[in-house]
Amino acid sequence: MKNLFVTDTVKMIGKTVDLYGWVDSKRDHKKIVFIDLRDRSGIVQVVGGEEFKSLSTEDVVMITGLVKKRPEKLVNPKLVTGTVEIEAKTLKIISKAKPLPIPINGDGYDINEESRLKYRYLDIRRARILRNLTLKSRATLFIRNYLMKQGFLEVDTPILTKTTPEGARDFLVPSRLQKGSFYALPQSPQQYKQLLMVAGIERYFQFARCFRDEDPRADRAYGEFTQLDLEMSFVEQNDILTLIEDLFTKLTHELFPDKHISQSPWPRLPHRLAKEKYGTDKPDLRKNKKDPDELAFAWTVDFPLFTEQTQEDFFYGSGRAKFAPSHHMFTAPHPDDIPLLDSDPLKVRGLQHDLVLNGYEVGGGSIRIHQSEIQQKVFDLIGFTAEQKHQFAHMLEAFSYGVPPHGGIAPGLDRLLMAALGEASVREVIAFPASSGGRIAVMEAPSPATDAQLKELGIKVVD
Ligand code: ASP
Repeated sequence: MKNLFVTDTVKMIGKTVDLYGWVDSKRDHKKIVFIDLRDRSGIVQVVGGEEFKSLSTEDVVMITGLVKKRPEKLVNPKLVTGTVEIEAKTLKIISKAKPLPIPINGDGYDINEESRLKYRYLDIRRARILRNLTLKSRATLFIRNYLMKQGFLEVDTPILTKTTPEGARDFLVPSRLQKGSFYALPQSPQQYKQLLMVAGIERYFQFARCFRDEDPRADRAYGEFTQLDLEMSFVEQNDILTLIEDLFTKLTHELFPDKHISQSPWPRLPHRLAKEKYGTDKPDLRKNKKDPDELAFAWTVDFPLFTEQTQEDFFYGSGRAKFAPSHHMFTAPHPDDIPLLDSDPLKVRGLQHDLVLNGYEVGGGSIRIHQSEIQQKVFDLIGFTAEQKHQFAHMLEAFSYGVPPHGGIAPGLDRLLMAALGEASVREVIAFPASSGGRIAVMEAPSPATDAQLKELGIKVVD
Protein backbone atom coordinates (compact mmCIF):
# COMPACT_ATOMS: atom_id res chain seq x y z
CA MET A 1 0.00 0.00 0.00
CA LYS A 2 1.10 3.53 -0.65
CA ASN A 3 1.77 5.01 2.77
CA LEU A 4 3.33 8.38 1.98
CA PHE A 5 2.07 11.49 0.27
CA VAL A 6 4.76 13.31 -1.70
CA THR A 7 4.51 16.30 0.63
CA ASP A 8 5.43 14.06 3.59
CA THR A 9 8.98 13.98 2.20
CA VAL A 10 9.74 17.46 3.62
CA LYS A 11 10.14 15.84 7.03
CA MET A 12 12.11 12.83 5.76
CA ILE A 13 15.50 14.20 4.75
CA GLY A 14 18.09 11.42 4.53
CA LYS A 15 15.48 8.65 4.26
CA THR A 16 14.80 6.34 1.34
CA VAL A 17 11.14 6.44 0.38
CA ASP A 18 8.69 4.76 -2.01
CA LEU A 19 6.58 7.35 -3.80
CA TYR A 20 3.60 6.73 -6.07
CA GLY A 21 1.91 9.23 -8.33
CA TRP A 22 1.60 10.91 -11.71
CA VAL A 23 4.30 12.63 -13.78
CA ASP A 24 3.20 16.26 -13.62
CA SER A 25 5.99 17.67 -15.78
CA LYS A 26 9.36 16.65 -17.16
CA ARG A 27 12.51 18.70 -17.84
CA ASP A 28 15.14 16.87 -19.85
CA HIS A 29 18.72 18.06 -19.16
CA LYS A 30 20.57 15.45 -21.28
CA LYS A 31 22.20 13.23 -18.63
CA ILE A 32 19.72 14.00 -15.89
CA VAL A 33 15.97 14.39 -16.11
CA PHE A 34 13.85 16.29 -13.62
CA ILE A 35 10.25 15.41 -13.09
CA ASP A 36 7.62 16.81 -10.80
CA LEU A 37 5.86 13.85 -9.23
CA ARG A 38 2.26 14.65 -8.30
CA ASP A 39 -0.22 13.04 -5.99
CA ARG A 40 -3.26 14.35 -4.14
CA SER A 41 -1.11 16.26 -1.69
CA GLY A 42 0.96 18.25 -4.19
CA ILE A 43 4.20 17.79 -6.09
CA VAL A 44 7.82 16.99 -5.34
CA GLN A 45 10.84 17.30 -7.62
CA VAL A 46 12.55 14.03 -8.56
CA VAL A 47 15.98 13.80 -10.21
CA GLY A 48 16.42 10.77 -12.42
CA GLY A 49 18.78 9.38 -15.05
CA GLU A 50 18.49 8.10 -18.64
CA GLU A 51 15.58 5.77 -17.82
CA PHE A 52 13.42 8.85 -17.04
CA LYS A 53 13.66 9.97 -20.69
CA SER A 54 10.85 7.62 -21.75
CA LEU A 55 8.37 9.19 -19.31
CA SER A 56 5.41 11.21 -20.54
CA THR A 57 3.33 13.55 -18.45
CA GLU A 58 0.48 11.82 -16.59
CA ASP A 59 2.20 8.40 -16.62
CA VAL A 60 1.63 6.63 -13.29
CA VAL A 61 4.92 5.64 -11.66
CA MET A 62 6.50 4.30 -8.53
CA ILE A 63 9.81 5.81 -7.56
CA THR A 64 12.15 4.68 -4.83
CA GLY A 65 14.54 7.43 -3.91
CA LEU A 66 16.57 9.30 -1.35
CA VAL A 67 15.10 12.50 0.12
CA LYS A 68 17.81 15.20 -0.06
CA LYS A 69 17.86 18.71 1.29
CA ARG A 70 18.15 21.22 -1.55
CA PRO A 71 21.11 23.62 -1.46
CA GLU A 72 19.97 27.03 -0.12
CA LYS A 73 19.98 28.76 -3.51
CA LEU A 74 17.85 26.05 -5.13
CA VAL A 75 15.07 26.20 -2.53
CA ASN A 76 11.69 26.89 -4.20
CA PRO A 77 9.61 28.92 -1.72
CA LYS A 78 6.48 28.48 -3.87
CA LEU A 79 6.37 24.74 -3.26
CA VAL A 80 5.45 22.97 0.00
CA THR A 81 8.25 20.54 -0.87
CA GLY A 82 10.54 23.32 -2.08
CA THR A 83 13.28 22.51 0.45
CA VAL A 84 13.79 18.94 -0.75
CA GLU A 85 14.24 16.85 -3.85
CA ILE A 86 14.22 13.10 -4.45
CA GLU A 87 17.25 11.37 -5.93
CA ALA A 88 15.66 8.46 -7.74
CA LYS A 89 17.15 4.99 -7.30
CA THR A 90 14.54 2.96 -9.14
CA LEU A 91 11.70 3.87 -11.44
CA LYS A 92 8.75 1.65 -12.20
CA ILE A 93 6.29 2.74 -14.85
CA ILE A 94 2.96 1.40 -13.63
CA SER A 95 0.83 2.73 -16.47
CA LYS A 96 1.42 4.92 -19.50
CA ALA A 97 -0.80 7.90 -20.30
CA LYS A 98 -1.87 9.06 -23.75
CA PRO A 99 -1.83 12.85 -24.33
CA LEU A 100 -4.83 14.23 -22.40
CA PRO A 101 -7.85 15.56 -24.32
CA ILE A 102 -7.98 18.65 -22.05
CA PRO A 103 -5.15 20.53 -20.35
CA ILE A 104 -5.22 20.20 -16.57
CA ASN A 105 -2.47 22.55 -15.41
CA GLY A 106 -4.37 25.87 -15.39
CA ASP A 107 -7.54 26.87 -13.58
CA GLY A 108 -9.56 25.55 -16.54
CA TYR A 109 -12.05 28.42 -16.75
CA ASP A 110 -11.22 28.94 -20.44
CA ILE A 111 -11.94 25.33 -21.45
CA ASN A 112 -15.32 24.44 -22.87
CA GLU A 113 -17.38 23.07 -19.97
CA GLU A 114 -18.83 20.14 -21.95
CA SER A 115 -15.29 18.82 -22.53
CA ARG A 116 -14.37 19.35 -18.90
CA LEU A 117 -17.43 17.39 -17.79
CA LYS A 118 -16.96 14.59 -20.34
CA TYR A 119 -13.43 14.13 -18.98
CA ARG A 120 -14.30 15.07 -15.42
CA TYR A 121 -11.97 12.39 -14.01
CA LEU A 122 -9.13 14.33 -15.65
CA ASP A 123 -10.57 17.72 -14.78
CA ILE A 124 -10.53 16.71 -11.09
CA ARG A 125 -6.74 16.29 -11.35
CA ARG A 126 -6.71 20.09 -11.79
CA ALA A 127 -5.49 21.75 -8.56
CA ARG A 128 -8.51 24.06 -8.36
CA ILE A 129 -11.14 21.31 -8.52
CA LEU A 130 -9.15 19.13 -6.15
CA ARG A 131 -9.00 22.05 -3.71
CA ASN A 132 -12.78 22.56 -4.00
CA LEU A 133 -13.51 18.89 -3.31
CA THR A 134 -11.04 18.88 -0.42
CA LEU A 135 -12.72 21.89 1.17
CA LYS A 136 -16.13 20.28 0.74
CA SER A 137 -14.93 17.16 2.52
CA ARG A 138 -13.41 19.24 5.34
CA ALA A 139 -16.57 21.36 5.62
CA THR A 140 -18.66 18.19 5.95
CA LEU A 141 -16.45 16.89 8.74
CA PHE A 142 -16.44 20.24 10.53
CA ILE A 143 -20.24 20.48 10.42
CA ARG A 144 -20.69 16.87 11.54
CA ASN A 145 -18.37 17.36 14.54
CA TYR A 146 -19.99 20.66 15.47
CA LEU A 147 -23.53 19.28 15.38
CA MET A 148 -22.65 16.07 17.23
CA LYS A 149 -21.28 18.26 20.04
CA GLN A 150 -24.61 20.10 20.09
CA GLY A 151 -26.53 16.87 20.67
CA PHE A 152 -27.66 16.19 17.09
CA LEU A 153 -28.12 12.71 15.63
CA GLU A 154 -27.29 11.98 12.01
CA VAL A 155 -30.13 9.93 10.53
CA ASP A 156 -30.58 8.91 6.90
CA THR A 157 -33.95 8.77 5.16
CA PRO A 158 -35.23 6.96 2.03
CA ILE A 159 -34.33 7.93 -1.51
CA LEU A 160 -37.08 5.79 -3.04
CA THR A 161 -40.04 7.57 -1.53
CA LYS A 162 -43.14 9.61 -2.17
CA THR A 163 -43.48 13.10 -3.48
CA THR A 164 -42.33 15.96 -1.19
CA PRO A 165 -43.84 19.29 -2.09
CA GLU A 166 -40.93 21.72 -2.41
CA GLY A 167 -42.50 23.29 -5.47
CA ALA A 168 -40.43 21.53 -8.15
CA ARG A 169 -41.12 18.67 -10.51
CA ASP A 170 -40.49 15.16 -9.14
CA PHE A 171 -38.26 12.47 -10.58
CA LEU A 172 -40.30 9.27 -10.74
CA VAL A 173 -39.01 5.70 -10.48
CA PRO A 174 -41.29 2.91 -11.70
CA SER A 175 -42.01 0.08 -9.27
CA ARG A 176 -41.56 -3.46 -10.64
CA LEU A 177 -43.40 -5.14 -7.79
CA GLN A 178 -46.39 -2.82 -8.00
CA LYS A 179 -46.74 -2.17 -11.70
CA GLY A 180 -48.19 1.22 -12.53
CA SER A 181 -47.01 2.71 -9.22
CA PHE A 182 -44.03 5.03 -8.89
CA TYR A 183 -41.63 6.14 -6.24
CA ALA A 184 -40.65 9.80 -6.25
CA LEU A 185 -37.09 10.78 -5.39
CA PRO A 186 -37.21 13.22 -2.45
CA GLN A 187 -37.05 16.93 -3.27
CA SER A 188 -35.90 17.12 0.35
CA PRO A 189 -36.36 14.92 3.44
CA GLN A 190 -38.89 17.46 4.74
CA GLN A 191 -41.62 15.05 5.79
CA TYR A 192 -39.20 12.46 7.15
CA LYS A 193 -37.41 14.98 9.31
CA GLN A 194 -40.68 16.19 10.74
CA LEU A 195 -41.68 12.57 11.41
CA LEU A 196 -38.31 12.14 13.17
CA MET A 197 -39.37 14.95 15.51
CA VAL A 198 -42.62 13.09 16.24
CA ALA A 199 -40.37 10.06 16.83
CA GLY A 200 -38.53 11.94 19.56
CA ILE A 201 -35.14 12.40 17.86
CA GLU A 202 -35.26 16.11 18.90
CA ARG A 203 -32.14 17.14 16.99
CA TYR A 204 -31.59 15.64 13.55
CA PHE A 205 -29.20 16.36 10.72
CA GLN A 206 -28.19 14.72 7.49
CA PHE A 207 -26.15 15.61 4.43
CA ALA A 208 -29.18 14.97 2.29
CA ARG A 209 -29.24 14.44 -1.44
CA CYS A 210 -32.25 16.26 -2.90
CA PHE A 211 -33.70 15.67 -6.35
CA ARG A 212 -35.57 18.32 -8.33
CA ASP A 213 -36.38 18.19 -12.02
CA GLU A 214 -35.92 21.90 -12.70
CA ASP A 215 -34.36 23.65 -15.64
CA PRO A 216 -30.59 24.06 -15.15
CA ARG A 217 -29.22 27.41 -13.96
CA ALA A 218 -25.71 28.53 -13.15
CA ASP A 219 -26.16 28.70 -9.39
CA ARG A 220 -28.19 25.52 -9.24
CA ALA A 221 -27.12 22.01 -10.20
CA TYR A 222 -29.49 20.13 -12.45
CA GLY A 223 -31.23 17.15 -10.95
CA GLU A 224 -29.60 16.66 -7.58
CA PHE A 225 -27.78 18.61 -4.93
CA THR A 226 -26.71 18.23 -1.31
CA GLN A 227 -28.24 20.05 1.61
CA LEU A 228 -27.21 20.18 5.21
CA ASP A 229 -30.69 19.24 6.37
CA LEU A 230 -31.52 19.78 10.02
CA GLU A 231 -34.52 19.87 12.30
CA MET A 232 -34.94 20.61 16.02
CA SER A 233 -37.74 20.17 18.54
CA PHE A 234 -38.72 22.63 21.28
CA VAL A 235 -37.12 25.63 19.58
CA GLU A 236 -38.05 29.08 18.46
CA GLN A 237 -36.95 30.66 15.21
CA ASN A 238 -34.19 32.61 16.95
CA ASP A 239 -32.60 29.36 18.21
CA ILE A 240 -32.22 28.03 14.67
CA LEU A 241 -30.77 31.29 13.35
CA THR A 242 -28.33 31.54 16.25
CA LEU A 243 -27.13 27.96 15.81
CA ILE A 244 -26.52 28.33 12.07
CA GLU A 245 -24.82 31.70 12.52
CA ASP A 246 -22.43 30.24 15.09
CA LEU A 247 -21.77 27.13 12.96
CA PHE A 248 -20.98 29.00 9.75
CA THR A 249 -18.97 31.70 11.52
CA LYS A 250 -16.74 29.04 13.08
CA LEU A 251 -16.57 27.12 9.83
CA THR A 252 -15.45 30.27 8.00
CA HIS A 253 -12.69 30.92 10.55
CA GLU A 254 -11.49 27.33 10.39
CA LEU A 255 -11.73 26.61 6.66
CA PHE A 256 -11.52 30.02 5.03
CA PRO A 257 -9.15 31.97 7.29
CA ASP A 258 -8.51 34.52 4.52
CA LYS A 259 -12.20 35.46 4.31
CA HIS A 260 -13.89 37.99 6.51
CA ILE A 261 -17.54 38.21 7.43
CA SER A 262 -18.89 41.71 6.66
CA GLN A 263 -21.21 42.06 9.62
CA SER A 264 -21.71 40.22 12.90
CA PRO A 265 -24.30 39.49 14.18
CA TRP A 266 -25.70 38.83 10.72
CA PRO A 267 -28.39 41.32 9.73
CA ARG A 268 -31.96 40.04 9.92
CA LEU A 269 -34.06 41.73 7.28
CA PRO A 270 -37.83 41.63 7.29
CA HIS A 271 -38.94 40.51 3.84
CA ARG A 272 -40.85 43.69 3.06
CA LEU A 273 -37.95 45.93 4.05
CA ALA A 274 -35.51 43.89 1.92
CA LYS A 275 -37.79 44.24 -1.09
CA GLU A 276 -38.28 47.97 -0.56
CA LYS A 277 -34.66 48.78 0.15
CA TYR A 278 -32.84 46.39 -2.18
CA GLY A 279 -35.54 45.27 -4.61
CA THR A 280 -34.84 41.63 -3.74
CA ASP A 281 -35.24 39.24 -0.80
CA LYS A 282 -31.64 38.08 -1.24
CA PRO A 283 -29.59 41.26 -1.26
CA ASP A 284 -25.83 41.23 -1.77
CA LEU A 285 -24.69 43.13 1.34
CA ARG A 286 -20.95 43.06 0.65
CA LYS A 287 -19.38 46.43 1.45
CA ASN A 288 -17.00 46.05 -1.47
CA LYS A 289 -18.26 43.81 -4.23
CA LYS A 290 -14.80 43.62 -5.79
CA ASP A 291 -13.35 42.07 -2.63
CA PRO A 292 -13.28 38.28 -3.21
CA ASP A 293 -12.59 37.66 0.49
CA GLU A 294 -15.75 39.25 1.85
CA LEU A 295 -18.65 37.08 3.01
CA ALA A 296 -21.89 38.95 3.62
CA PHE A 297 -24.27 36.63 5.43
CA ALA A 298 -27.79 37.82 6.15
CA TRP A 299 -31.17 36.46 7.15
CA THR A 300 -34.43 37.31 5.48
CA VAL A 301 -37.39 36.81 7.83
CA ASP A 302 -41.09 37.72 8.12
CA PHE A 303 -41.98 36.40 4.69
CA PRO A 304 -45.65 36.37 3.83
CA LEU A 305 -46.94 32.82 4.39
CA PHE A 306 -48.66 32.81 0.98
CA THR A 307 -48.13 34.27 -2.43
CA GLU A 308 -50.78 34.56 -5.07
CA GLN A 309 -50.99 31.32 -6.94
CA THR A 310 -49.98 31.16 -10.59
CA GLN A 311 -50.22 28.44 -13.23
CA GLU A 312 -46.62 27.58 -12.41
CA ASP A 313 -47.58 26.35 -8.94
CA PHE A 314 -48.54 23.12 -10.65
CA PHE A 315 -48.13 21.03 -7.55
CA TYR A 316 -50.69 22.96 -5.59
CA GLY A 317 -53.98 24.08 -7.04
CA SER A 318 -52.44 24.89 -10.48
CA GLY A 319 -54.21 28.20 -10.57
CA ARG A 320 -57.42 26.76 -9.13
CA ALA A 321 -56.82 28.30 -5.71
CA LYS A 322 -55.84 31.84 -4.81
CA PHE A 323 -52.81 31.05 -2.66
CA ALA A 324 -49.56 29.12 -2.87
CA PRO A 325 -47.09 28.71 0.01
CA SER A 326 -44.12 31.11 -0.15
CA HIS A 327 -41.87 28.43 1.30
CA HIS A 328 -43.68 25.13 1.64
CA MET A 329 -46.96 24.06 3.10
CA PHE A 330 -45.52 22.95 6.45
CA THR A 331 -44.33 26.45 7.42
CA ALA A 332 -46.12 27.83 10.47
CA PRO A 333 -47.99 31.12 10.39
CA HIS A 334 -46.85 33.79 12.82
CA PRO A 335 -48.92 33.14 16.00
CA ASP A 336 -50.24 36.74 16.03
CA ASP A 337 -51.53 36.33 12.47
CA ILE A 338 -53.57 33.14 12.87
CA PRO A 339 -56.94 34.98 12.80
CA LEU A 340 -55.90 36.44 9.41
CA LEU A 341 -55.90 32.93 7.90
CA ASP A 342 -59.68 33.33 7.70
CA SER A 343 -59.97 37.03 6.98
CA ASP A 344 -56.93 38.03 4.89
CA PRO A 345 -54.51 35.15 4.15
CA LEU A 346 -52.09 37.26 2.07
CA LYS A 347 -51.38 39.37 5.17
CA VAL A 348 -50.30 36.35 7.27
CA ARG A 349 -46.59 36.30 8.05
CA GLY A 350 -44.84 32.94 8.00
CA LEU A 351 -42.11 31.81 10.38
CA GLN A 352 -39.80 31.28 7.42
CA HIS A 353 -36.10 32.19 7.39
CA ASP A 354 -33.85 32.37 4.35
CA LEU A 355 -30.08 32.39 4.59
CA VAL A 356 -28.42 34.75 2.14
CA LEU A 357 -24.73 34.89 1.26
CA ASN A 358 -23.28 37.47 -1.15
CA GLY A 359 -26.63 37.78 -2.92
CA TYR A 360 -27.31 34.04 -3.20
CA GLU A 361 -30.05 32.27 -1.31
CA VAL A 362 -28.04 29.49 0.30
CA GLY A 363 -30.72 27.97 2.47
CA GLY A 364 -34.23 28.19 3.76
CA GLY A 365 -36.26 26.80 6.58
CA SER A 366 -39.02 27.54 9.02
CA ILE A 367 -40.82 26.78 12.22
CA ARG A 368 -43.40 24.14 11.25
CA ILE A 369 -47.09 23.78 11.76
CA HIS A 370 -47.65 21.14 14.43
CA GLN A 371 -51.40 21.47 14.87
CA SER A 372 -53.59 19.37 12.56
CA GLU A 373 -56.34 22.04 12.31
CA ILE A 374 -53.91 24.68 11.05
CA GLN A 375 -52.32 22.22 8.63
CA GLN A 376 -55.80 21.38 7.29
CA LYS A 377 -56.57 25.06 6.87
CA VAL A 378 -53.36 25.63 4.91
CA PHE A 379 -54.17 22.63 2.68
CA ASP A 380 -57.55 24.21 1.93
CA LEU A 381 -56.10 27.66 1.25
CA ILE A 382 -53.63 26.27 -1.27
CA GLY A 383 -56.42 24.42 -3.04
CA PHE A 384 -55.56 20.83 -2.21
CA THR A 385 -58.01 18.30 -3.57
CA ALA A 386 -59.28 15.47 -1.32
CA GLU A 387 -56.82 13.21 -3.13
CA GLN A 388 -53.87 15.54 -2.46
CA LYS A 389 -54.84 15.80 1.19
CA HIS A 390 -54.93 12.03 1.33
CA GLN A 391 -51.28 11.99 0.15
CA PHE A 392 -50.33 13.77 3.38
CA ALA A 393 -52.70 11.94 5.71
CA HIS A 394 -49.73 10.26 7.41
CA MET A 395 -48.48 13.68 8.59
CA LEU A 396 -51.81 14.58 10.16
CA GLU A 397 -52.09 11.16 11.73
CA ALA A 398 -48.54 11.39 13.13
CA PHE A 399 -49.38 14.79 14.64
CA SER A 400 -52.23 13.14 16.55
CA TYR A 401 -49.84 11.01 18.66
CA GLY A 402 -47.93 13.71 20.53
CA VAL A 403 -45.92 16.11 18.40
CA PRO A 404 -43.32 18.54 19.77
CA PRO A 405 -43.16 22.05 18.30
CA HIS A 406 -40.31 21.96 15.80
CA GLY A 407 -38.49 23.76 13.05
CA GLY A 408 -35.39 23.57 10.93
CA ILE A 409 -33.45 24.68 7.93
CA ALA A 410 -31.54 23.23 5.02
CA PRO A 411 -28.53 25.20 3.79
CA GLY A 412 -27.35 24.02 0.37
CA LEU A 413 -23.82 22.80 0.85
CA ASP A 414 -22.79 23.21 -2.79
CA ARG A 415 -24.17 26.73 -3.05
CA LEU A 416 -22.60 27.78 0.19
CA LEU A 417 -19.19 26.55 -0.92
CA MET A 418 -19.64 28.08 -4.35
CA ALA A 419 -20.21 31.49 -2.79
CA ALA A 420 -17.42 31.08 -0.22
CA LEU A 421 -14.94 29.99 -2.89
CA GLY A 422 -16.02 32.73 -5.28
CA GLU A 423 -16.91 30.18 -7.98
CA ALA A 424 -19.49 31.20 -10.57
CA SER A 425 -21.18 27.81 -10.80
CA VAL A 426 -22.13 25.07 -8.33
CA ARG A 427 -20.75 22.57 -10.82
CA GLU A 428 -17.25 23.69 -9.75
CA VAL A 429 -17.78 22.14 -6.30
CA ILE A 430 -19.50 18.88 -7.34
CA ALA A 431 -17.40 15.90 -8.45
CA PHE A 432 -19.67 14.70 -11.26
CA PRO A 433 -22.32 17.34 -11.95
CA ALA A 434 -24.88 17.10 -14.71
CA SER A 435 -24.18 19.28 -17.74
CA SER A 436 -26.56 21.79 -19.24
CA GLY A 437 -28.80 19.27 -20.96
CA GLY A 438 -29.17 17.32 -17.71
CA ARG A 439 -26.67 14.71 -18.90
CA ILE A 440 -23.98 13.15 -16.77
CA ALA A 441 -21.41 13.44 -19.50
CA VAL A 442 -18.87 10.92 -18.16
CA MET A 443 -21.43 8.11 -18.16
CA GLU A 444 -23.71 9.36 -20.93
CA ALA A 445 -26.68 9.21 -18.55
CA PRO A 446 -29.64 9.18 -19.00
CA SER A 447 -29.84 6.37 -21.54
CA PRO A 448 -32.70 4.34 -23.05
CA ALA A 449 -33.91 1.26 -21.18
CA THR A 450 -33.92 -2.10 -22.97
CA ASP A 451 -37.19 -3.61 -24.19
CA ALA A 452 -36.81 -6.36 -21.57
CA GLN A 453 -36.47 -3.79 -18.75
CA LEU A 454 -39.53 -1.89 -19.95
CA LYS A 455 -41.58 -5.06 -20.29
CA GLU A 456 -40.76 -6.10 -16.74
CA LEU A 457 -41.91 -2.68 -15.51
CA GLY A 458 -45.04 -2.74 -17.63
CA ILE A 459 -44.00 0.48 -19.36
CA LYS A 460 -44.45 1.53 -22.98
CA VAL A 461 -42.56 4.52 -24.31
CA VAL A 462 -44.66 6.70 -26.60
CA ASP A 463 -43.16 9.38 -28.87
N1 ASP B 1 -37.08 21.30 3.05
C1 ASP B 1 -36.78 22.68 2.88
C2 ASP B 1 -36.05 22.90 1.57
O1 ASP B 1 -35.52 21.96 0.99
C3 ASP B 1 -35.92 23.23 3.96
C4 ASP B 1 -36.59 23.28 5.27
O2 ASP B 1 -37.71 23.80 5.35
O3 ASP B 1 -35.97 22.85 6.24
O4 ASP B 1 -35.97 24.02 1.10
